Amino acid sequence: MLFNKPKIKMRDKIKDHCAIFGVTSDDLGFSVSKLLYQGLIALQHRGQESTGISILKTGGKIITYKKSGLVSKVLESKILSQYWGNVGIGHNRYATTGAIGYKSTDYMQPFHFKNNEIEFSMAFNGTIANFDDIKKKMDDMGRVFITDTDTEVIAQLIGSIALGTEDWPEVLTLASRLLDGSYSLILMTPEGDIYAMRDPLGFKPLCIGELKNPRRNIYFVASESCAIDVVGGTLIRDVKPGEIIHLSHQKDIHSENVIKSNRTALCQFEFVYFARPDSIIDGVSVAEARLRLGAYLAKNDPILRDPEIRENAIVVPVPDSGRSVAVGYAKEAKLPYVEGMMKNRYVHRTFIMPGQAKRKLAVKEKLNPIKSVVFDKDIILLDDSIVRGTTTQQIVSLLREKGGAKRVHLRVSCPPIISPCYMGIDFPTKDELIAGRFQELYGENFLEEIRRTIGADTLLYQTVEDLTQAIGKDKNKLCLACLTGDYQLKSVKKLAELEKSIVRSRI
Ligand code: SF4
Repeated sequence: MLFNKPKIKMRDKIKDHCAIFGVTSDDLGFSVSKLLYQGLIALQHRGQESTGISILKTGGKIITYKKSGLVSKVLESKILSQYWGNVGIGHNRYATTGAIGYKSTDYMQPFHFKNNEIEFSMAFNGTIANFDDIKKKMDDMGRVFITDTDTEVIAQLIGSIALGTEDWPEVLTLASRLLDGSYSLILMTPEGDIYAMRDPLGFKPLCIGELKNPRRNIYFVASESCAIDVVGGTLIRDVKPGEIIHLSHQKDIHSENVIKSNRTALCQFEFVYFARPDSIIDGVSVAEARLRLGAYLAKNDPILRDPEIRENAIVVPVPDSGRSVAVGYAKEAKLPYVEGMMKNRYVHRTFIMPGQAKRKLAVKEKLNPIKSVVFDKDIILLDDSIVRGTTTQQIVSLLREKGGAKRVHLRVSCPPIISPCYMGIDFPTKDELIAGRFQELYGENFLEEIRRTIGADTLLYQTVEDLTQAIGKDKNKLCLACLTGDYQLKSVKKLAELEKSIVRSRI
């Protein structure tokens, strides 16, 4: 959401920014607020810091409620009964700590835009890379901003364009030509229409669904299909990259326009880590993609040809993120899958604590090896990704020192992350990414140096080729920029070059 990251979090997991969900019903006597609640709960993994809904009351009044906290805490039943209407949108936010005023509701979504002529409520997931340029131009035109978020920049831009035409698909088409970014957004009008738009490269997932019965027709738009499942709906399809969909409570759900692009760039991390396994994104089951990621690792793993290791090996996931991939690996390798580490579900602060010593303690509080399982074993340890490497290092050391593992063989379902993300994901800088820094420092020996630093006996990363095969999409359909340094957005290319030169100057 905020393009200019004000403060880097000391976390060792990459985080997505936000979830969006919209519902419309043709039954004026039915409130969609409970469905919004259920959909947002299903999308809680995409943002936990605040949640909000905008509802269209009978008569065309938009009312918005948003607050810090989880969906279950914010959208209590008394709120749901007050916020009553047959059309609504909702949002879960992942905020960037340190942003001035980030706890203010001005920074939360949905964003309710209203002036003398135009009114709408909007929820947005993503980042606008040319945010500064657009904001400056709008500043020069006399627009007054109350926040420094790209959400408000988009809203103001849409509001300005809407002064010239009442045709919402045209407004959104014109807006998307000016926005260089990765985004999915939904917009609700006082007339009771919801418009959903996915950026032309399709970085962020977005899908539509329906729930029909003799009493009413309900249509949904959601960041992930798991939300449509949870509310009892049926997935219709993904919103295509560059497509504008109209959810009309009076009519149906239909496509208004598709802004074509010669390639797409769906974020590969959705399959590796972000999305829920029960979601289907652009026709691919996330759960199945993760199993294949594990299977591809096993297919390429030289240690499986060593009879001594095979004899003594168990496949252990880093809980919870390594589970599906470990199942896929174990099946392909024909080795036992074993839960060798216990995760304490009541510790929530592991990866955001500043200071190496505190973080080390936090990992110990959160993860404990099961000694009776791992002692004297060859542990084939599966994880989804390595970001800074600090947590992975501690997990390997816990398995060896506390668990008594004979050897630890680390297998990673995501290829080395060498470059930052400028597409709306909370990412460390290149300097803080272990693979990014080590590649600059050690050249072609960087993987061996990572292995040594992490303390694993052997290390195997997924290749970019196998990652794309496991996802089942061509390279030119996916964003792989954090793995290749090859960015698709024009405004981002310059930024990436700048950061690369800073890292080089430090080495
Ligand atoms: S750079 Fe990486 S995390 Fe960012 S959108 Fe691309 S694939 Fe996803």
